[in-house]
Amino acid sequence: MTVFHDLLQVQEHDTAADRLRHRRQTLPEAAALAASEDELAGLEATLAGVGTDAAESAKLQRRLEGELALLESKISELDAKLYSGAVTVPRELQAMQTEGDAMRQRRAALEDEVLEAMSARETVDEQVAGLERRRSELDGECVRLRVAVAEAQAQVDRDLTAEVAARADAATRIPADVTALYEQLRAHLGGVAAAPLVNGRCGGCHLALPATEIDRLRKEPAETLVRCEQCERILVRP
Ligand SMILES: [Zn+2]
Repeated sequence: MTVFHDLLQVQEHDTAADRLRHRRQTLPEAAALAASEDELAGLEATLAGVGTDAAESAKLQRRLEGELALLESKISELDAKLYSGAVTVPRELQAMQTEGDAMRQRRAALEDEVLEAMSARETVDEQVAGLERRRSELDGECVRLRVAVAEAQAQVDRDLTAEVAARADAATRIPADVTALYEQLRAHLGGVAAAPLVNGRCGGCHLALPATEIDRLRKEPAETLVRCEQCERILVRP
């Protein structure tokens, strides 16, 4: 075992830690939470608009019902007067009948308007109820997902702590200059600075080394740091 084998261990822990950090940034639970929160925000906006519609249509219905009630009492008054026998002049009676017919026509039209307003109000109320049901579902979903995100993050954090501790353990024997080169390469080569040489191939770039190069590496002492000619990574010989 050379320090380069320790370095390979460090590399494995670093790669695992990088994966964990990436996972923490891209938790599917977090994506689902963001989607639910987005939908909830959109739904709140829709609900606010529909809520205004509901109030307007309730107001319209009340106004039409008030008008209808007033008209009903006017018709009753007129009928009472008409059939009381108090009015006997035919022209006056004719005029009252004409007025009564006009009010009845207006009443029929108002009744239609009230029915229309009621139906419109029911539609809006149903829409509000549907949106409120979905909001309550989404509220529940967001609560559940927030817990799931926190749990997933906590699990990743525990794994990460373990990787960092194991890495520190593996790194104790590695000289400072090797560590410095390793960190520099890691920063430039996608996180992989040290790779094993397996069956004449570099484990970093996966290219086969030329036979002459393998021959040269074989002759280098085990303590000598060697690098892949192609990708410049530190090669760890078996
Ligand atoms: Zn290579």
